[in-house]
Amino acid sequence: MAFLKDFGDKLQKAAGGAADKAKDLAEITKKNAEIARLEKNIDSYYTELGKLCYESEKTNASSPLFEQCSKISSALLEVENLRNEIAEIKMQNEVAPAAETTKGNFCPKCGAPCAEGSRFCTKCGSPL
Ligand SMILES: [Zn+2]
Repeated sequence: MAFLKDFGDKLQKAAGGAADKAKDLAEITKKNAEIARLEKNIDSYYTELGKLCYESEKTNASSPLFEQCSKISSALLEVENLRNEIAEIKMQNEVAPAAETTKGNFCPKCGAPCAEGSRFCTKCGSPL
């Protein structure tokens, strides 16, 4: 029956090894999570630092950071221009559908209310 005991020992050893492996894996996972958390913090510290540098150097043409600052300045300007363009498009769209509705519901010539989809005004007969 020696082989049975041997087998048992082997099983126990394998199980122990698997437990160690699982423990190692858990440890590694924990450390990787900590690294990810710290790296995320580092990124936000870099961003904060960058913003502070930008604010203090953006108008200083002799600064070694001026070129990088200029890139941000022109990108910010571009964003502002695009936002203005969007606002303009939205304003045009707000005016246009209102005119469309009025045109559909009232005769453009005499102002009489007209049924939607009718082609001529029922009051003055002008085309809609
Ligand atoms: Zn009419």
